[in-house]
Amino acid sequence: MGRILFRDVDTIATFDPAGRELRHGWLLVENGRIVALGEGSPPAGPFDAVIPGRDRVMIPGMVNTHHHLYQTLFRAVPGAQDKKLFDWLVFLYERWRGIDEEAVRTSTIVGCMELLLSGCTTTTDHLYLFPRGHRGLIDVEIEAAREVGIRSHPTRGSMSLSRDEGGLPPPDVVQTEEEILADSARLIGKHHDPAFGAMVRIALAPCSPFSVTRELMTETAELAREHDVLLHTHLAETEDEERFCIERFGMRPVDYLEDVGWLASDVWLAHLVHLTPEDIRRLARAGVGMAHCPSSNMLLGSGISPVVEMLRAGMAVGLAVDGSASNDASNMIREARQAMLLARVKYGAEAMSARQALALATVGGARVLHRDKELGSLEPGKCADLVLFDLSELAFAGAADPVAALIHCGAQYADLVMVNGEIRVRDGEFVDDCLYAYIPRQREIAARLVGKGSGVP
Ligand SMILES: [Zn+2]
Repeated sequence: MGRILFRDVDTIATFDPAGRELRHGWLLVENGRIVALGEGSPPAGPFDAVIPGRDRVMIPGMVNTHHHLYQTLFRAVPGAQDKKLFDWLVFLYERWRGIDEEAVRTSTIVGCMELLLSGCTTTTDHLYLFPRGHRGLIDVEIEAAREVGIRSHPTRGSMSLSRDEGGLPPPDVVQTEEEILADSARLIGKHHDPAFGAMVRIALAPCSPFSVTRELMTETAELAREHDVLLHTHLAETEDEERFCIERFGMRPVDYLEDVGWLASDVWLAHLVHLTPEDIRRLARAGVGMAHCPSSNMLLGSGISPVVEMLRAGMAVGLAVDGSASNDASNMIREARQAMLLARVKYGAEAMSARQALALATVGGARVLHRDKELGSLEPGKCADLVLFDLSELAFAGAADPVAALIHCGAQYADLVMVNGEIRVRDGEFVDDCLYAYIPRQREIAARLVGKGSGVP
């Protein structure tokens, strides 16, 4: 903490409302907040640290709006690699049911390390799997995110509709509605921090229309509104889901959303691939936010989200890596490139610029999480969440536009990452080098969980 000056930064891309980009800029951080920034001569000291920014581009820390961190244990699993969503889920539930406290702790640390190193400083997580006997998994996850130093928005996920009742998950990983609601209230009371600059905020997140009951959707919304926390779920991801909603509820996903009281501004949804123009108008009018997951949608062959139409309609759209079993990475800067490329596949070369893709990843995500007064841009008074990329690396050699180069040339890893005024990554390495010990442990746990019952060596 203290008073830290970044100086001689090649370019500072602020993503403020005017889209200002400062050449040879400086930025001053004091006690976890951005105090001032500008071009030319920096203010006078004393400082606790002065960090040179030659050949560096600075952007706001990115905001990941949807993830399942435990899935970093289930990457590139044979048998799941080439399946569409419903078949992929049914196959993986059998492996996921083996997770425990150590698996959640280790995978959260590893997933958050990967996110941080890619320039992400705030992440949500959607943990909806609570195998019998393991109830405190979100508490474990919050502690793990704190150890890595990332700003976290864990969502209390839930599944209450097992395959015995017409849903998809196996019975031993679903919970009763009473259990889910009681634990949701407990987690809000224990961890949710509504204050400016909070490092932990809770949201409530029934898993999807095909894994919870209608009653749980409505009761969760009531509970969230009673405590003023946000609501989150997956919606309109696949054609199978649309068929399921029509068969079970007699209506399409967005109609169902409205029916259970979720068509509202305290809701953000992951995916939103299969929408009609009228669906988009209704979601926009209601102020619903959106977590766009391009890599996951491509890997599972779910389709292309009409994200350009949603932006035109004025919806808050953020970017997300989604779970690592459907990506299989937690790299936000790579995800921004995927968003730009996928938008161009559907709409043409002018559909999304590199800066627009970065805006989704920064201010867009902050708006989705209702944190745009605190996060998502580099402006005085905001939290000091910022990232530097090193333009002297091979990938950028000869690049003319330093900001666009991050996306066009395919940046992978940040050089420096600061969260809430604390430097977590310096020279491309974690300042806390104890974190690296979790990587071999993760490999051992993954081998145990994936090997179990799958025939995979
Ligand atoms: Zn997801």
